[in-house]
Formats: sequence, structure tokens, C-alpha cells
Amino acid sequence: MGRYIGPVCRLCRREGIKLMLKGVRCETAKCAMERQWRNRPPGMHGWRRRKPSGYGIRLREKQKVKRYYGVFERQFMIYFRMAERAKTNTGEALLSILERRLDNAVWKLGFAPSRRAARVAVAHGHIYVNGRRNNRPSYLIGQGDRLSVKPSERSKKFIRSVVGDGAPAMQSWLGLDVEALEGTINALPTREDVQIPVEEHLIIEMCSR
Ligand code: SF4
Repeated sequence: MGRYIGPVCRLCRREGIKLMLKGVRCETAKCAMERQWRNRPPGMHGWRRRKPSGYGIRLREKQKVKRYYGVFERQFMIYFRMAERAKTNTGEALLSILERRLDNAVWKLGFAPSRRAARVAVAHGHIYVNGRRNNRPSYLIGQGDRLSVKPSERSKKFIRSVVGDGAPAMQSWLGLDVEALEGTINALPTREDVQIPVEEHLIIEMCSR
């Protein structure tokens, strides 16, 4: 299972949108997208604006979603095939599947400052699903699942330092018991729960070829 290990701000600059890959820094003025001379595509020709082709527009839409969720092409196409088999709209099913990734749920519960940090927390065994250790960031959670923190002082202290004492704002498909550091999946995520602007029909057009 691969992961991108290069500079992440250039991914935001390429897509022209804040992908929120660096946690707290993304909310500050240090964010590259907030700086006048850095919020353009990377590379020495980044400032040149060319009219993108139809293919280019569809490709950027797909890359944006892949980079936002931290998945590579092979994994993404597995999700796409799953979405194709779903009985609902393929685009909405694809986004719902991506939202159901364990690292995404851990991030949205506030157990980690970013999705990348959530991935590390999961891979290092800090997160339990339904009382059992699960170190697969790509695991797809289901309705009714319980996400908890490994019952060790070290893990709890680590997650507590991120969560803090107050209950963070939570999307309706998730529930959180701050005291017990336990999250519940109240429902499967829907299209409305996706927080980046994305035109999924362009992705479907691209992947269906
Ligand atoms: Fe993207 Fe965050 Fe870097 Fe800003 S700070 S460019 S949102 S990764």
C-alpha cells in the first residue's frame, strides 16, 4: 500500500484548492495557498495560464479527489469498480466509499490533526474498530461501527492531546463521546458530507473509458 511522501503543499497548488493536508498549518497564514506568490501551480511555468483541454479538466478533478483522500490510482480504481456495482448513483457511491475510509473517519472524529496524521495513528495501532485493533487506513467502516483508542496510557494521552477537552463540531453521520474517546458511525456518509468542491460526473466520464 503506497503513500505519497513528497511535498504536499504543491499538491494544493497544482489543484488550485486547499486540500487541508497539513492540519493546523492549513488554517494559518503560512498556508501556501494564502500567499500571493505561491498560490499558483508549481514549476517554473506554473504562472502561465493555458486553456485546459476536456481531458485535462477531467484529469484534474480525479487527481484532486485522489490527493484529498491520499489514495493512488490502483486503490482509486478499486473504489470506482465498487461504486459501479452500487445500486445508487456511481459518483455519489464513489465519494461515499472514500469518506468511509478508516483514516478519514479518524480525522473527522478529531483524533488526528490531518488525514495524513490519522493514517499514521491507524497504521501504528492506536485505533480500535469494534474493540479490535485495526491498522489498515483503507478499511471501510460501516454503519454502527465503534471507533475507540487503544486502551494504553500512551495512546490515550496522544489522542487526548489532539482532541482536547471540548467536543469538536461533528458531521451528522458521526458521533463522539469525548470522555471515553469513542466514536460511533451513526449512518453511512452521503454526498453532502464531502467537504471539497468536486464534480464527480467528470471523474466518472474519465474512469469509464
Ligand atoms: Fe494545502 Fe495545507 Fe499546504 Fe495550505 S498548508 S497548501 S492547505 S497542505
